[in-house]
Amino acid sequence: MWSTGALTYDVSKKHNFFMKVALIWTFNDFPAYEMVYGWNTHGKLVCSYCKENSKAFTLTNDSKTSFFNCHKRFLPMDHKYRKNRKDFFIGKVERDVVPQLFLGEELYDVMS
Ligand SMILES: [Zn+2]
Repeated sequence: MWSTGALTYDVSKKHNFFMKVALIWTFNDFPAYEMVYGWNTHGKLVCSYCKENSKAFTLTNDSKTSFFNCHKRFLPMDHKYRKNRKDFFIGKVERDVVPQLFLGEELYDVMS
């Protein structure tokens, strides 16, 4: 609706005009995320931040995707949970950094 606009009637001025519209921000659940943006919301690649760098894994007993402990890399490097070997994956320390985020035209290409 941004490039072509939609013919709209302005009641106050009593004439038609082409209104251009851009969806800038939404807050929604995952099913709506798929409907609005066309983003796949099933499987290991559902996280729009991690994408192909996802650490999601398949549970062995029911083949469902799990994201447990997959996002500690978004914590500050000195956050205590990164080194917590007891309460998350036993024995693992998170040393990875945040994946590169889509910006500008790259983001536009992915979302269009
Ligand atoms: Zn993610």
